[in-house]
Order: sequence, then C-alpha cells, then structure tokens
Amino acid sequence: MSALSELKTKLLRRLGVDIRRDQYSYAKDPRFGHISETRVADSWVATTCGYCSVGCGMLAGVKDGKAVAVRGNPDHPVNVGKLCPKGLSEHHTLDAPGRATQPMLRKDGKLVPITWDEALDTLVERFTAIQAQHGKSALGVIGTGQLLTEEFYTLGKLVRLGFGTSNHDGNTTLCMASAVSGYKLSFGSDGPPGNYEDLETADVILLIGANIADNHPILCHRLEKNKNRTLIVADPRVTKTAMMADLHLPVKPRSDIALINGIAHILIREGLIDKKYIDEHTTGFAELAAFVADYTPERVALVTGLSEETLLKTALLYGRAKAAFIGWTMGVNHSTQGAVTVAAINNLALITGNIGRSGAGPFSITGQCNAMGTREAGFTASMPGYRKYESAEHRQELADLWGIDAARLPTARGHAYPDIIDAAAAGEVKALWFIATNPAVSFPNYRLLEKALRAVEFLVVQDGFHPTPTSDFAHLVLPAAIWGEKEGTYTNSERRVSKVNRIVDPPGHARPDFDIFMAIAERLGVREELYPGWTSTRDAFHEWQKISRGRMCDYSKFSWEDLERQGGAQWGGERLYADGIFPTATGRAQLHCVPCLPFTEQPNDEYPFILNTGRTVEHWHTRTKTGAVAMLHNMTPNAWLEMNPVDAAALQLKPHEKVTLISRRSQVAGVELRVTGIVAPGQLFMPFHFYETNSNLVTLGEFDPISREPNFKQCAVRVERSPSNGKSDNGKPSNGTSSNARH
Ligand code: SF4
Repeated sequence: MSALSELKTKLLRRLGVDIRRDQYSYAKDPRFGHISETRVADSWVATTCGYCSVGCGMLAGVKDGKAVAVRGNPDHPVNVGKLCPKGLSEHHTLDAPGRATQPMLRKDGKLVPITWDEALDTLVERFTAIQAQHGKSALGVIGTGQLLTEEFYTLGKLVRLGFGTSNHDGNTTLCMASAVSGYKLSFGSDGPPGNYEDLETADVILLIGANIADNHPILCHRLEKNKNRTLIVADPRVTKTAMMADLHLPVKPRSDIALINGIAHILIREGLIDKKYIDEHTTGFAELAAFVADYTPERVALVTGLSEETLLKTALLYGRAKAAFIGWTMGVNHSTQGAVTVAAINNLALITGNIGRSGAGPFSITGQCNAMGTREAGFTASMPGYRKYESAEHRQELADLWGIDAARLPTARGHAYPDIIDAAAAGEVKALWFIATNPAVSFPNYRLLEKALRAVEFLVVQDGFHPTPTSDFAHLVLPAAIWGEKEGTYTNSERRVSKVNRIVDPPGHARPDFDIFMAIAERLGVREELYPGWTSTRDAFHEWQKISRGRMCDYSKFSWEDLERQGGAQWGGERLYADGIFPTATGRAQLHCVPCLPFTEQPNDEYPFILNTGRTVEHWHTRTKTGAVAMLHNMTPNAWLEMNPVDAAALQLKPHEKVTLISRRSQVAGVELRVTGIVAPGQLFMPFHFYETNSNLVTLGEFDPISREPNFKQCAVRVERSPSNGKSDNGKPSNGTSSNARH
C-alpha cells in the first residue's frame, strides 16, 4: 500500500466511512442467527471434537473450502449443543501457523524438504536395515489417542505383522494405563462400566483426583443437571472442581488409598455394604474386611490430614446413597500405585453394589479424544478386541480371523512406552517412530528422554505440526493430517463410538495417517496380505467390525451412517455388568487388598516441596494445537507456579516474580509465581503444557509396576528466585532447526 492510500485509509476509518466491513460486519445465519459475516458457512459438517475424551458432537462450518466456525451440535447426546473454549475454536487449528506440509529429511545436520517417495523409501530402508542388523525389536513405535480407531487398528497390524516388533505402545500409557490395569485387576477386562448420564442420576458423586472443570468442562454441565446430588471432591488442591463441591477433601498428596480403605473400613463397620451382591458377585471379601480393619479413622486421619468427622461423614454419605458414583482422572492414574488405586476404588463400588445400574459405578474419565479407541484396537497392552496375549485361545481366534499362523502373534506384550525409552537410552532400541505425540513436552524426566532421542540411529516423527520440540530431534518428519482432515471414529469415556468427518483437505503435502500406513505397507510388500483391497478407513472399519464381533467392544452392529445420525452408540450398551457377571475365570469380580505406601521422593531439607503437575482449560497437552490458536494462547500464554502464601513469605518471594524449580534431575527457570491458598503449605502446582518452562525437566522418572504409567504427580523440589538475567536453556534441544516458541 502506498503512503498516499495508507493515509486515505486512515482518514476514512477516522471519519467512520470505512468500518472494515470485511472483518467486522454481522450477518444472519439461517441456523445460528446473527453471527460474524466471516463465519456464515456454506455448509455444516457434523463431527466429533478432537481434543478430550468427553467426545462432544459439533458442527463445523465450511465456506469456500475453509473451516470458518465450529458450533456445538444441539442434537448430540453428550453435549447437547455446548462446547468448551478448545472445542469452540478447534477450526483454527486447521490453518494454524506451524502446520507440517512437507516431508523433511535430515541431511548434513539439517532437515530439508524431500518428496513423499523419498521419505517413505527412506523410512522402510532404515527401519528394515536396523532390524536386520539388531533384531526386530530394535524398532519402537509410539502411537497416540489422537488417531482414529481405524488408523490405530491399521497401525497395529503394520507394526506387529509388517515390521514384526512388539515394542509398540501409545502415549495413552502416560494418562490412563492405570485405569485399564485397575479394571482388569477387578473385573477381568478394561471398560468403564458406567456413563455420563450417571452424573445426572447419582445421589452421591465422589471425584478423586479429577479436576473436570478444567479438563473435561462439558461434564460439569451434566453434573449441574443433577439437582439432588451431593458432590464430594478429594483433591490436595482447591481446584475449580473442588470449589463446586458440597464437601472438599483436601487430602495430603498420594493419601487417596488410605482414604478409600478408610471409607471401606467404616462401611463394613456400619453395615453399609451390600452383602447379597458381595456373596453372589465378588471374591476376596473376607480378606478385604480383615485388611481394612487396620485402616481405622484415627490412622486414616493421620495419613490423609482429614478429620475423623470428615471421614465418617464421607463414608456415611457414600454408604447411604441409593446410587453412588466414583469418577477419577490423573490424580489417581499418574502414580506408581495407580493401577491398585483403581482396584481399591472398584472395591468400594463392589462392596456396596454400586455398579451396573443408573447413577452407580466406578468411572475412569479418560484423557484424549480416542484414548478408548486405542484401548479397544489394541496391540499395546492387549491384542485387538481386548484379547489377551497370554491366551492361546485368543491368539488362535485372532490368527484365524486374519488368516495367519498364530505363531506370528506374541505371547506377551512388548515393552511399554517408558521401557521403550529406557531401551533406546540404553542403545537396545535403535529406531523410533513417534506418531502424533510430542514426548519432549509430555514425557517425565526430560533428561532421560533427551538421551534416548539423541541415542537412536533413526528417529521418525509423524505429526500435523513442525517444528515441535520432538520433531527438532527427528531424522525424518512426515507431515500428517489432523482432526477435521480425515474420516473415521473416536470412542469417548462412556464407550460411545462417534463419527469423525473430514471438513477440509490437509494443507500442502500433508497426508492422513491411514494413507501413510498404507504407503509404508506397500513398500514393505505386505499391503495385500494385511489390507486386502483396502483403499480407505471405511475398509479398516469393516474389518474391525469382524474382529470385534462377540467381544466386549463389539462394533458389528454399528454403521458409520447410524453413528453419525444417532450421535454415536455405546458398545456394551448403556452400562456394563448389569447382570453382575464379570469376564474373569469365575465370573465374579475380584476384591483387592491395597496397602497405602508413601510416595518415593519425599520432601527433605534440600528439596522441601511436593510438586503436583496438571492442566488448564485453555490448553491441550503439549500445545502444538492450542498454542497456535490465538484466543487460547492469549488467555494463558505462560506456565505458572502456585505456592501457598506461608511458603512465599518464608522464601521472601512475591507474586509474579520469576522462580526456578530444582529437583534431583534438573531445573526449570523463569516460571511466574502465583501466591495462592489454592495449594496447601509445602505443596506446589504447575501446568505441564509449556515447553518453554517444561515441568518435565524436574518430574520423576518412576512408573507404575503394573500399568507402566508415570508418576507425574509427586516429586520433591526446591524453589529459588530466578537469576535476574532470566537466562536458562530449560533443556531446549539444539539439533539444527529451532523450536517454534509456541510449542
Ligand atoms: S469438553 Fe472436551 S470434547 Fe468437549 S469441546 Fe471441550 S475439549 Fe472438546
């Protein structure tokens, strides 16, 4: 624009003649009334949100081939028209800055653009060469709960039968593997028994380590519909969810098992148990009763920090409820005792008969949009359709369905995610393939992860965004389509399978993950064997229907068209275990005696604080997407550290000062201090989303022995004022390309 026309524009705007109509004018949309003219769509596509496991139905508006708006789908049973800020702005992720649009290969230390042919040839050549030299298990693959179920199923076949490695896991091990393991311990299978409607019909709802107001906001609307409920929230922190509670239990960190055992103790003592249900449908009650006899209110009060009166009140509320619901998320799962904590929660539901009926149930609220779908499609903790590796019958059944020799199926799972990273750091796993996940932000104990990423001979990162902190390490970057650019299904926390639709085409040369898997299978020479005649995810869905038929997660009666029309359908029906029959050898659920053990890294004089990490409503996990959406980024652009005023005064720290957290492993500098009573003295809280101030520099590299889920929640740190120059590398990699700051 010339100086003259610039002057003219300014003048016209000042006079009010130019009102910037193209940006700010309103128009009337036939469906949604008066909205910004830029957001009046030519057509609306029904789909499902691609962030969290609530699984909200939405309508995405398309104009001139671009996604211009998202609205909650008023006809969808999950959210009846409501969306949280992430969902409402999801269309902005599609044309966000930083989308990966071109395959890149590291040559002479720098990532340079290449063709898809070169990228795929290189991947297959390097993976197979490394496997030929070091064995099949030298390849590790980490998938994600962001993939479609059809894609995860397709990937599982490719990794196991094509590449022949069992070292395949998902980033879901970082968030809900403990729920899976806990369900298996108690019920013999994974599968959340209840549903969201239970939030509306329960008379008592106990949330343990679940800040749904930030992390699953639309569930709060379901809760709000229930006017007769008593909400109890057990959380060391006064979260937004705790503020909604009728009774907040500010338990000491990791004392949840003592709380649960203490409730069981009081329920048994007071006769508030369902003896008939216990006798007919469980085993292990005598042992459990003897075990929790030691969890007296006096002892539990000491461990949890709650008063005996509060414990009694909680137990009586739960025990006297006609229908009692227990929900949990990462406060339970992110622990070295996560799986057994879930089993202890299941104990409470079982001894009171609070399972398999309206308003009752132990309910794991999962994390990612399709965490459940990856659990069903398997080939990580179990084989597809919740089949067990250790069962010869299951292996034979699956082999027959696929028309292969059963000997090609492993008898045990391979390494779980943390063990793949350990093996890579130790030089045993030589090649890694990360798909739609960003471990440089999400994996605990960053220094070990960094060692693993630098140690491998060939690292492939397949993602919708580049650069990311993880793709900075890559030898090969594959640009992938994201939500809104592909078609298939997601399963939400209540086992609801919902349709996901393509709204726009992927940018540049980016391709759907399914297409990438097919092209790799082609080059490996296994496409026709593994995927006969397949051309789209619909073919994967049809095979998955056959594979899941007769299993708990049976898709055989679903069709994509029905799923779309009905707002999804729940496999297993509305609730599991309504008949009290469980998929165990005896048909009964198993009660478990779960001791409450102190967490490993207790505070001491040098590291006097217990650090808790978590999330905030504006951001999604590692911010590759939400960091690129201006309205979300602007609401919460930086990480912060919450510290109690007593501790801040003792350290002479003031609100908004920049502080450094130091653990035995590393340190993270330049974190904004928030002085607040939300956290108790001696405790700290920090969100984990931010690479620039990465909480995982200080978190602990310890994992649940059963589920292999990390203990993100409790580690010992000290806090100091950051140096005035504010300089710290905070562990940023220096592998050539520079990290995009918003990641
Ligand atoms: S609650 Fe979850 S599924 Fe619903 S709009 Fe928000 S992020 Fe999406």
